[in-house]
Order: sequence, then C-alpha cells, then structure tokens
Amino acid sequence: TVRTRFAPSPTGYLHVGGARTALFSWAYARHFGGQFILRIEDTDLERSTPEATQAILDGMAWLALNHDEGPFYQTQHFDRYRAVIQHMLDAGTAYYCYTTPEELDAMREAAKARGDKPRYDGTWRPEPGKTLPPVPAGIEPVVRFKNPQDGEVVWHDLVKGEIRIANAELDDLVIARKGGVPTYNFCVVVDDWDMRITHVIRGDDHVNNTPRQINILQALGATIPVYGHVPMIHGSDGQKLSKRHGAVSVMQYAEDGYLPEALNNYLARLGWGHGDDEVFSREQFVSWFDGGNLSSSPSQFDHEKLAWLNNHYIKQADNQRLADLVAPRITALGGTIAGVDGGVDVAAAIALLKDRCANLNELAQQAMLFYGARQAPAELLAQHLTDEIKPALADFAAALQSAEWSVPAIAAALKEVLAKHGLKMPKLAMPVRLLVAGQLQTPSIDAVLHLFGRAEVLQRLQLK
Ligand code: GLU
Repeated sequence: TVRTRFAPSPTGYLHVGGARTALFSWAYARHFGGQFILRIEDTDLERSTPEATQAILDGMAWLALNHDEGPFYQTQHFDRYRAVIQHMLDAGTAYYCYTTPEELDAMREAAKARGDKPRYDGTWRPEPGKTLPPVPAGIEPVVRFKNPQDGEVVWHDLVKGEIRIANAELDDLVIARKGGVPTYNFCVVVDDWDMRITHVIRGDDHVNNTPRQINILQALGATIPVYGHVPMIHGSDGQKLSKRHGAVSVMQYAEDGYLPEALNNYLARLGWGHGDDEVFSREQFVSWFDGGNLSSSPSQFDHEKLAWLNNHYIKQADNQRLADLVAPRITALGGTIAGVDGGVDVAAAIALLKDRCANLNELAQQAMLFYGARQAPAELLAQHLTDEIKPALADFAAALQSAEWSVPAIAAALKEVLAKHGLKMPKLAMPVRLLVAGQLQTPSIDAVLHLFGRAEVLQRLQLK
C-alpha cells in the first residue's frame, strides 16, 4: 500500500509551501487508499520550538490534512538512529573518521586553490588492503557513510523525470557527529525506512539530499521510495515567496478570514492541474491526484485568485457555519450581538451580505451595520433628514406599523409612500438608512429593515 509522509522541521510556522507539500502527500495517499504519516523533524534542537510544532499541528488541522499515523518526533528516535549507525559500522558500510575540523578546512582551502570541488580526502575510509593511520588520542570521531565510488544514482522523479547523479560527485556523508549525534539526512533515511514510506513528496530544495539518501537506503537493504520534488512557490514578482508578498503562514490566512477549503483548492492548483478545472472539491482533487500532471516549473502565488476562490467558497458555505466564524470577529470589532430574544440573527445577516465579501473579516465589517453603534454623523443626518422629508418618513413609519413583516410588504409600503409624496427612492431610503443603520452603505433597504425587525425599526425611525 501507498504510504506517504509530511516531515516538517518545527523551526517556524506552517507556510504555504509546506502546506502545499503536505496537501500533495496527503492527497496521494488518499487517492490510492494508503496512509499519510506526520513526522516532526525536530532534531535541530537549537532551532526547533514547541510553539512551531504547535503551529504546524494547528495548520494541518485547520486544512484538515489528517494523518493516519503520528505525529512522530525524531527526537524520540535517537536510540534507533544510534543502533542503525552501530549496525552500519559493524557491517562496514560506515566508518569512524578522525579528521579534525581544522584538517577539513585545510582540505577545503587546498581544493579551492586547485579549482576543485572541496571534498573529504578519504583518509579514514577503509578499503581492502589499505592500512589506516593510527587512531589519534583525544579526538572524538564522526561517523561517515561509505558512499559507493563508481556508477551513478538514478531515480525517476514524479515531478522532474529521470535524474542521474554520478557517485563520484558524492562525498562520504557524515551520518553521526562527534558524540554519536545522528545528522539530518541520516534521520530522514532511517525514518523513511522504518515507516515503510513508499512515496516521498517534498520541496525541491531537498533534491541534492536524495542521491545520498538513496545510497544509504541501499546500504541498509531498504526498498527505495518513489521521490517527487515539487518546485518552490514564488511571489508575483518571481522571487521566492516571503513575508514581503503578504501572508505566508497558513494560520495567518485563517486569521485573515480565509476558509480552509479555499486555501486547499488554491494550493492544489499551484504546480498541479487537471485540465482547465479551477474550482473543485477535496473529493474531486483526491480522485484526480495520482502523481501525474505535476509541473516542474515554479508556481506564482496569486493573492487575487485566492481571494476570488475564497469569495466563491463563502458564497457556498452554510450560513450558520459562517455565523460561528464571523461572530467573534464582530465582537472583536466592538459589535454587540444580542442574545436569543433580541438582535439580528447573525446567520441571516450573513445571508444578506456574504456575496460581496472576499473574506470573513470583510463580512464582519459589513455586519457591523447590524451590531455596531448606529449613531449617524450629525452632518449626514442634517443633510438627508430634511424638513421636507419628515412627513414622508412619518407616513412610512405608520405604514410599517401595520404592514405584514416581509421583504416584499416592506418594499410595497416604501413605494406607496414615495408615490404619495412624489419622491424618488434615495430621498427616503437615505434618511431611513441613517436612522436605522447609522450609515448610508447597506444592502437593499427592505431586506435590512426586515432583518432588524419591526419593533427595532419603529423605535429607530421615531423622530424627536
Ligand atoms: N524536514 C524537511 C523540511 O522541513 C523535510 C524533509 C523531507 O521531506 O524529507 O524541509
């Protein structure tokens, strides 16, 4: 069965690039009915933080990229890594190297001077018939992998096609530092092996690690997974995506009022496509995502397209679900949402407003019409609530007192009053808006009045 993993390093929040990798790995496993594993690569003790781990877990949960196994933490597997290193030392596929950092620096300098690639000179690499130097006293060795020197590493990348790297290009990788601390590439290899990962989908910043990892897996007798290296995400200016381009953290999108289905849909189209389809559900994505159609060129992050998709999903979303998401945002803006027996129902307000909103914060701002302070600015009132209009306003209030409380009935009452007084719609609608909502910008006035409710409207229309 297919087993994929997402293996973030908890050195920062979950960014959109990581989320896209996670989405692809998740969808690939789902497509083939396999398992998706979450592995936190926290061996860099200095840069890893519990906050970052939590931010990653939050981001994954928000996007509903649910894992079947894990989260596993590499820091809990150190014993296992050490055991595998010992096993490799015993098997002769790894060796102790006593070359000091100073000697390595000197080798590097010498190589540079010759115009060669800097590399380890192989002093401690055991070979049949070779006599190794005597072990120096007082030096703690590192452990190096005995990389094959001939032939090449070949793999068929899901994204990039066939890749070939000559072994002559590869150094004997350090797999344990002084004191036996396993290195990053080694931990990845052991975990991919132990977790029986069949497909590794990751960012193409790891493509240089892959031949080294494949060689170590081979030395361990492990099955080599299929690799797919997805290209970076760029900003609209073609540069690597960074904060400068707007939000890059997944949870920032949550905060900015994006729906997870919008971000998932958007990310799915970054570096992958299914014909001209732009809007599709998770289920559709899973059914289509079989490892084909992955693009090998970097994709550009397009905030406008994401905003468009978000508006699309807001329009489709259940109003009560949106109400639960928007209510705290209204409160944060200083709005007051009354209890059961009073006030405008948030879901009903959202139904009226949501078509025009690109995100939940905009929705909350517009909803302030129903929940904010309604005192209209005095100059505006003076301008629109003229003596000429007051009799019509009084007639309208009277008509509302007895009208059936429905949007069409309110519209009819309004029309009747306009006709009677020979007025055009805005003449009356503007002061009504100011008195009831405290502002001139509202959706259709009949719908707004209907939502406020008769008692509330009549009270606010009272002219003092
Ligand atoms: N921990 C690595 C990262 O966050 C990913 C390693 C991998 O997927 O193999 O970039």
